[in-house]
Amino acid sequence: MGENLRKYFDLEGRVAIVTGGNRGIGFAIACALADAGAWIVIANRSEREGQEAAKRLVEAGAKAIAVPTDVSKKASVEQMVQRVLQEWGRIDILVNNAGIVARGPVEAISEEEIDQMYTINLKGVYLASVAVGQHMKERKKGKVINISSVIAVMALPERGFYSATKAAVSQLTRSFALEWAPYRINVNAIGPGTIRTELNRAYFEAHPEDARRLADAIPLKRLGVPQDIAPLAIYLASDASDYVTGQTFLVDGGWSAV
Ligand code: NDP
Repeated sequence: MGENLRKYFDLEGRVAIVTGGNRGIGFAIACALADAGAWIVIANRSEREGQEAAKRLVEAGAKAIAVPTDVSKKASVEQMVQRVLQEWGRIDILVNNAGIVARGPVEAISEEEIDQMYTINLKGVYLASVAVGQHMKERKKGKVINISSVIAVMALPERGFYSATKAAVSQLTRSFALEWAPYRINVNAIGPGTIRTELNRAYFEAHPEDARRLADAIPLKRLGVPQDIAPLAIYLASDASDYVTGQTFLVDGGWSAV
């Protein structure tokens, strides 16, 4: 890497928590941040899957641990943050990636699904941001990256309440960015288009025609993969983005542009 490039994007020794970092978009972001030198905390619910993801990173030469966490529970998030501070003494980067989706006509999803999407997708982002932000405010430095969605800004059938939680994540991003700017904490969001992961695997297996229709509507003519999202996370986690805050960046193959 050229000296200037290294200066912009180097994350050597920076501690990064990735919620839902065990698979999909979260794992791709964890790998990318680790490639740039960050020490990774995988924070998802399944202890086995978290440990496996951390092991893969360590085997690839990175520094990584897994701390089982349920982002929808304040106590669980606070315990995770305490554990990271005990272990590594600081937190430089928080990636709020954990999320779930329930599909169905907007008026037909269950109350339980509404509660789950609200508590994981929105309240989870809030709880982790507050728990980590306290520490970042004391240090007067930090980078928070929220995973929103392209459907925060456009409507698609059968994802109505989910898209509302993601629009709220983008709005929360602006509010935290505004109030934490005096503490030099940058808060931004990434809005992925449709990315092939566990989140939609079963759905696209059952509805391959939908995957084809979606790909056709995208100027770059394909659905995304998690690695399409990860490089932007390096930028938003690094000093290169010090003058950028409150934004949602769409990574969607041009879908929302046409
Ligand atoms: P996956 O289903 O592959 O991954 C979701 C991750 O979230 C898993 O690691 C899961 O681990 C974790 N998770 C779920 N609930 C919780 C919880 N309560 N606490 C902690 N971790 C939790 O999905 P993706 O990788 O596709 O999704 C990642 C993010 O990207 C989500 O926020 C999603 O909404 C968003 N997104 C995805 C798009 C796509 O097309 N795939 C498009 C736009 C946005 P575990 O179950 O072990 O907790």
